Amino acid sequence: MKNYHLHQNGNCQYVTFPQMEGYRSLKHLFTTRLGGVSEGCCSSWNFGAKSLDKDENIIRNYEILADVLGIGTDQMVTSAQTHTTNIRVVTVEDGGTGILPNPSFQDVDGLVTDEKNLAIITGHADCNPVYFYDPEKQVIGLAHSGWKGTLGGISEKMVALMRERYGCRPADILAGMGPALCQDCFEVDRDVADMFFGRNEAYRQFAYEKGIKTYIDLKQIIRYDLTAAGLADDHIFDMGLCTKENMDLFFSHRGQQGKRGIMAAVMMLV
Ligand SMILES: [Zn+2]
Repeated sequence: MKNYHLHQNGNCQYVTFPQMEGYRSLKHLFTTRLGGVSEGCCSSWNFGAKSLDKDENIIRNYEILADVLGIGTDQMVTSAQTHTTNIRVVTVEDGGTGILPNPSFQDVDGLVTDEKNLAIITGHADCNPVYFYDPEKQVIGLAHSGWKGTLGGISEKMVALMRERYGCRPADILAGMGPALCQDCFEVDRDVADMFFGRNEAYRQFAYEKGIKTYIDLKQIIRYDLTAAGLADDHIFDMGLCTKENMDLFFSHRGQQGKRGIMAAVMMLV
């Protein structure tokens, strides 16, 4: 069974989790690089990389996404991500925040809400997008979990926040990991590997060494942490898509040597 569905809507292509499609109150998707108006290294559906693209292109790309979702850009919220583990609770009043030319929430790498008709968006180009959905309490969350966010435990923090703020039971929560670097493409130096092993010795089972480099499976670490936080193993999904190995479809920070656009992870309650 495929772990994702690829959709085409006009010129736009995006992927979804088959396991999250059956919920009528949830919309979710992860954009590909196909469907926008940007050019060059940001071609074409770029939602960030402001130094490499024109503002007007990025705004237009958000408008195209809004059309796909059937909403306005004033019903979308995103943040300025800086590889923290800070998660912000957002409401409909935050609609439009982070969409150019509006201000962004600074140093926020996770968004969570229980409000309807507000699309929460995180930006990605190799870093794991982790989708959280509690169908019982009707709460959604998104985390930008690159290696720093994963090392900091942003997914565990999201589960804790969903428990404390909304009364979610971890056993009810679904979590999905979208397109990101696979283990073979996430090569790090020993000092970074040691930070992971220093946090938890058990992470050694998710790493291998080749020469002076270590290769770490961040998705397995996220899965391990989510299971430890009380999620059921069969409630954790992975699209199995590597950004660097599918650059026809996805932007890749490592694959494009930093000159890349940003893709959008999107969730909305309806
Ligand atoms: Zn790969």
